[in-house]
Amino acid sequence: MKPIRILLVAVIAFAATLSLVMVKAQKKKLPEADCGRTAGLGYDDTPMLPDQPWRVHDIKRPQPRTIAPGTESSQQSPGRAPSDAVVLFDGKDLSQWTNHPKKKDLGNITWKVENGYVEVVPYAGDLVSKEKFGDAQYHIEWAAPAKPCGTSQWRGNSGVLIMSNYEIQVLDNDHNPTYADGMAGSIYGQWPPLVNPARARGEWQMYDIAFEAPVFEGEKLVKPAYVTVFLNGVLVQHHQKIIGRMTHRQVAQYRPHGATEPLSLQDHEVPVRYRNIWVRPLRGYDQP
Ligand code: MG
Repeated sequence: MKPIRILLVAVIAFAATLSLVMVKAQKKKLPEADCGRTAGLGYDDTPMLPDQPWRVHDIKRPQPRTIAPGTESSQQSPGRAPSDAVVLFDGKDLSQWTNHPKKKDLGNITWKVENGYVEVVPYAGDLVSKEKFGDAQYHIEWAAPAKPCGTSQWRGNSGVLIMSNYEIQVLDNDHNPTYADGMAGSIYGQWPPLVNPARARGEWQMYDIAFEAPVFEGEKLVKPAYVTVFLNGVLVQHHQKIIGRMTHRQVAQYRPHGATEPLSLQDHEVPVRYRNIWVRPLRGYDQP
């Protein structure tokens, strides 16, 4: 037999042996879980957790509330809010909102509700929620106009004004050059988004925001606001400290306000659309 044939036979034999060994390994029976085993519900003799009034695995620690988590949105249809959320807009009406038109001679105009969304009507003024919020989780979906109009800060501009003061910018980020701290996903005039995960103009974009309200004692700020923002599921602000209330061409500063304030959506005179808006007021740990 030629050496090359010997080598070929050896390789085939080795491969066959290896596959046999693998098949045998797969057939080896795994141990079954023992469903009869039981465990205690916690402990009362474990060490105390640092800076907490609870022990490790404390049996007395309150159980968190159980809620239904809601469903995801698609481009075609909005998802459902978690069961404990305050639904501010479900595509039907503006019963949870008020607004103050910018120009008195326009009369009592408001934003346009149709086809499951609400659209900015230029000069109708910011849409302001009737309910007020402090620490909260926000879910807001928006779409810049499919037909581009204007450039930079005039293209698809609106904004999520948390506590009516702190703007998470809404803008058309689709091939629309502008200053970084004015892009969608920015804390306007303060921090650009970490990346630009915006979809094409005309498509639905999704904000998920966790907000820690600032704390004032009289006129004095004793704790600044912090915000975490996901745009289309991508982290764009990571527990970022907010410098102050939204302003233009100035360094933002705080102005004292209540412990809770309404959510506002900005009328920047561009027909941006919103849908599926809900808020979960946040409580701390161990407050079921
Ligand atoms: Mg804006």
